[in-house]
Amino acid sequence: MASSTLSIADNKTHFHPKGNPPSTHTKAIQQQHRLKLPFTDKTDFQEQSKGFIAKPDYLKIKADAGGVAWDMERYQFLLDNKDFDSIHPSLQRQAVLNMNYGLYEVVPGIYQIRGFDLANITFIKGETGWIVFDTLTAKETARAALKFINQQLGKRPVVAVVLSHTHGDHFGGVRGVINEQDVISGKVKLIAPADFVKHAVSENVAAGNAMIRRMFMQYGVGLPVGPFGHVDQAIGKNVSVGNLGIISPNISITKPIEEMTIDGIKMVFQNTPGTEAPAEMNTWFPQFKAFWAAENITGTIHNIYTLRGAKVRDTLAWSKYINQSLHLFGKQAEVMFASHNWPRWGNQRIQEVMRGQRDMYAHMNNQVLHLANQGITINEIHNVYDMPKSLQDQWYARSYHGSTQHNSRAVINRYLGYWDGNPATLVPLSPRDSAPLYVEMMGGANKIIKKSQSLYNQGLYHYAVEILNKLIYAEPNNQTARDLLADNFEQLGYQYESPSLRNSFLAGALELRDGKIPATKLTAGGPDMKRAIPTELLLDYLGILIDGRKAAGVNYKANLILPDKGEQFLIELNNETLTHIKGYHADDADLTIKLNRADLEQLLLGKTNLPELIQSQKIHLEGDSTIIGNVGKMLSKFTPNFELIPGTKPADK
Ligand SMILES: [Zn+2]
Repeated sequence: MASSTLSIADNKTHFHPKGNPPSTHTKAIQQQHRLKLPFTDKTDFQEQSKGFIAKPDYLKIKADAGGVAWDMERYQFLLDNKDFDSIHPSLQRQAVLNMNYGLYEVVPGIYQIRGFDLANITFIKGETGWIVFDTLTAKETARAALKFINQQLGKRPVVAVVLSHTHGDHFGGVRGVINEQDVISGKVKLIAPADFVKHAVSENVAAGNAMIRRMFMQYGVGLPVGPFGHVDQAIGKNVSVGNLGIISPNISITKPIEEMTIDGIKMVFQNTPGTEAPAEMNTWFPQFKAFWAAENITGTIHNIYTLRGAKVRDTLAWSKYINQSLHLFGKQAEVMFASHNWPRWGNQRIQEVMRGQRDMYAHMNNQVLHLANQGITINEIHNVYDMPKSLQDQWYARSYHGSTQHNSRAVINRYLGYWDGNPATLVPLSPRDSAPLYVEMMGGANKIIKKSQSLYNQGLYHYAVEILNKLIYAEPNNQTARDLLADNFEQLGYQYESPSLRNSFLAGALELRDGKIPATKLTAGGPDMKRAIPTELLLDYLGILIDGRKAAGVNYKANLILPDKGEQFLIELNNETLTHIKGYHADDADLTIKLNRADLEQLLLGKTNLPELIQSQKIHLEGDSTIIGNVGKMLSKFTPNFELIPGTKPADK
């Protein structure tokens, strides 16, 4: 696919009435990529298709709540053997590779189901049952995968589940393959790296609502699938929409290297904290000479900064752990497989990919800092830094999930922060305040639009964006400006290799054209996630939910006692701020609240209310109980429907 010999698809039907086909400038750039990139290297295609056993006779998986949890049908256009000028040729290639669908043998005894969700689900054949590695995002997709492998290879019980790390696409479907009671009783082993639940929950709580809104950009949630819209997500097609759950592991891997034999399968766990996730681990299977790289080694440069929003990751630590994997296991490995994309076979190939990925993260760390130490700032680095040619020629080191553009800025952000050192940018005006002055000095809206049109016609999209962005901050309801900005975003979206960048530009265009932000049913986590939140984190979040202005002049001191957890907290509202400390209490508290954590969870899930808890004597209040209602009135309800780009929320009439 996407070689220069294929015909260019004649796909003129854009999903949006204001949508444009790729411009002549965009087409010329795509053609250059087709000629320059190493499309003759077909290794990935051999690896991607190797070991295929069977695919199901369906392309959609239903959601329990109604609707569709997973849909491969909408991506079938990628298999038509056509090049699309609206897709960067390298991204189109990755998008075709990720059309893997069905059951694959990695080696006899190790199987993967791919294309049932964003990630892969892996099954290791033990003496009596399956050991499952990672359980997809949703109960529905994981359940379908287990059913399919049992149909194909014979029904076996799941005796253990290993969760490689703390991201939802790896544990969310756990209830689709095992039930919680079997984990509590110890019948099924649920194994995860140390501090799994804490990290799995915490990454999505404090800024969770903002992250959901930003998923519309990075993941293009709301963007139609097709050559002008969503085509891929680098590490898989997309995220499924189903039941996301979590079960607390009954075995925690705490040592740097830890060995364990389950159901006749020897596993050597390698903890890699602070890499792709705060808690993550690889696994070595000596019997199979097989190395499971979790999400540490995939078919892309991964995110150092994930645009949906997350703490910036540590490129150097990531590189060092890959180096450790190489020296501990990579030199003996005959197959390397992972939770995304496809496996690598043969020791030479494995070492090549391991070294390449090791070097790509180390290079990003070292060379970005090399440039920063010579004065290149966070506002320039993405236009200066690039991978060395030797890595650019390797498909596994291309900018899909993480781009060199947004990752290089992240490295500077991690070490030096967001400030470029110029006082002019230290306490800047808000864009809405500075924009009217820019527009006035540029001679008004018409002049800006005329110049932008000319820049657009020349293919100078980033330049047009620069001045149009000022105009829409000054005049958010100027639809001509919004449409022209959308046109520029669209061509940039077509041109970027990274789906994270592509989706962000194309989603931005969609919101500008429609003058509205997309509706969402996405929420920050279901009942399982709420139950799993540690009390301290829950109280931290309560502090975030409080609208400080509503707490002006109010001072409270409360003791919170959770007998079933043996926890107690001293909570203070002071200076419009809620703080808490574990293990302390105040003798002069205004209120003491005693209830079981289990009942608090019922309250949070809306399954009970305060009067009911008082009635059933499940909550004991001592002191001024009106405090609870007063604080309740200070809490905001977050919804992910705020504007990211001016003029994308209908004006209040
Ligand atoms: Zn993942």
